[in-house]
Amino acid sequence: MSEKRAKYIFVSGGVISSLGKGLASASIGALLEARGLSVTIQKLDPYINVDPGTMSPFQHGEVFVTDDGAETDLDLGHYERFTHCTLSRFNNFTTGQVYDAVITKERRGDYLGGTVQVIPHITDEIKNKIIQASQGFDVSIVEIGGTVGDIESLPFLEAIRQLRIEVGHENAIFIHLTLVPFIEAAGEVKTKPTQHSVKALREIGIQPDILLCRTNQALSEGIKSKIALFCNVERDSVITALTVDTIYAVPLCFHQEGLDEKIIQKLKMWTAAPRLQHWKKLIEKINHLEKKVIISVVGKYVHLKDSYKSLNEALFHGGIANHTHVHLEFIDSEKLEQGDEAQWSALRSADGVLVPGGFGERGCEGKIDAIAWARENQIPFFGICLGMQMAVIEFARHSAGLKDANSAEFNEKTKHPVIHLMEDQKLRREKGGTMRLGTYDCVLKKSTKAYAAYHREKIQERHRHRYEFNNAYRKDLEARGMIFSGINPQTGLIEMMELKNHPWFVGCQFHPEFKSKPMKAHPLFISFIQEALKIRSLKESKKSKVVRIGLKNSKTAEEIFV
Ligand code: GLN
Repeated sequence: MSEKRAKYIFVSGGVISSLGKGLASASIGALLEARGLSVTIQKLDPYINVDPGTMSPFQHGEVFVTDDGAETDLDLGHYERFTHCTLSRFNNFTTGQVYDAVITKERRGDYLGGTVQVIPHITDEIKNKIIQASQGFDVSIVEIGGTVGDIESLPFLEAIRQLRIEVGHENAIFIHLTLVPFIEAAGEVKTKPTQHSVKALREIGIQPDILLCRTNQALSEGIKSKIALFCNVERDSVITALTVDTIYAVPLCFHQEGLDEKIIQKLKMWTAAPRLQHWKKLIEKINHLEKKVIISVVGKYVHLKDSYKSLNEALFHGGIANHTHVHLEFIDSEKLEQGDEAQWSALRSADGVLVPGGFGERGCEGKIDAIAWARENQIPFFGICLGMQMAVIEFARHSAGLKDANSAEFNEKTKHPVIHLMEDQKLRREKGGTMRLGTYDCVLKKSTKAYAAYHREKIQERHRHRYEFNNAYRKDLEARGMIFSGINPQTGLIEMMELKNHPWFVGCQFHPEFKSKPMKAHPLFISFIQEALKIRSLKESKKSKVVRIGLKNSKTAEEIFV
């Protein structure tokens, strides 16, 4: 990589979390790429965990896996979906990693007897990590996790304050995302939370250059001027970050507000006008999704949608490619297991069933019930990672007569461990970063649904699992109609399976959702939605047939029909 020095955009957030800092950073990346600049995006997370891999999906949401096998924050998913970046373990680090590196150096004696302190040792380590990930790019966007005022994000803010002085004002800017709420009782938007947030930033030596004001109402000139005055920023550096119907509209909204122009002005960069045609086309498509399908997602993390972030997006992308609005029904597999009628009827309304990845036994029998229903009723089924493993168990139990079939993850002593622990996992004791992670090769069998979706033989997909299909059962299941359509050429591990006597029943051990993009939907999601559409139109034609039969027998109704 060349030694080109990047210019920095530091993005912080204030007032509350969940304002969309990740999406804002991703959208800035998209706009700068549209101007022909090379961009990288980094997320700095202030928590102590070394990475989010060990955290519960309820606490942290999805764990996004990079090509090189890093378990990272879900914001990296947004970065990859909005830009051409392929990110790596260098694009996300935590307080835990920073301290780990500093303590390792201290134990090695690298500090030559010095007292090791937050400033300069921790802040130096943070700066080094930022610089390292930024080399070779025109612009490096650095998102600081958390909210200004948090104790744990202080070293990160101090590090970027120092870095800006070191690289010079023309080579780094601070963008602060804040909230401008509409207060019903007052009938107007309020700027005070923003003023307080910026005050907190300025107290630690950071004067924001640009403010992104998240709001549900367009901000008037008067409000923008007031924010500018009280927060010590230029009037045209107060940007409205309006809540929009689709996240993919954010880059265009920012552009209309003049954000990309402002950024390059402040960074003293000269670029061509941005080419935003592809974003405009995308929004046009999203605004005109004529068809509709219902997909049931059966899992146990259904109460926190962030747990399936990339999955939700990939399904949406598959819909866009088919001009279809994908309505997601999240079904709680535990309730399904208990026979909850509302959950069962929601499942039955589906045009396609998807069982995503997951860990642990809770709710798994409900997933198996849902898969059996999809298989028996010829409803398109897509199983991802744990979802594929559950599909294998369902088939082994109900179609191959292996009544006790199970995964060794849930029952180590099961008579038929159709899913078992991978060989190299057996010796692993530590939990963090020890799964089969990142990109692996897979060779697809011709004349399969998998091959029909990808149109090629060799694929590469990202993984995150410890268990796998037990090849000892391959022959038995093949004899009953299971096709092993994707195999890892180096290890012989089964990466994809499907069923012969079913319109579309596909499982994959990898996570295709990580590589789907709004303008380039993943082939498996395109195929899945395509098949669900077929079921939908079949259902609709049956419905209209019923209506017509009714009409034939009734004169008055026939008149209405005519
Ligand atoms: N728990 C399963 C395993 O470890 C599946 C993991 C997943 O769905 N990501 O193999």
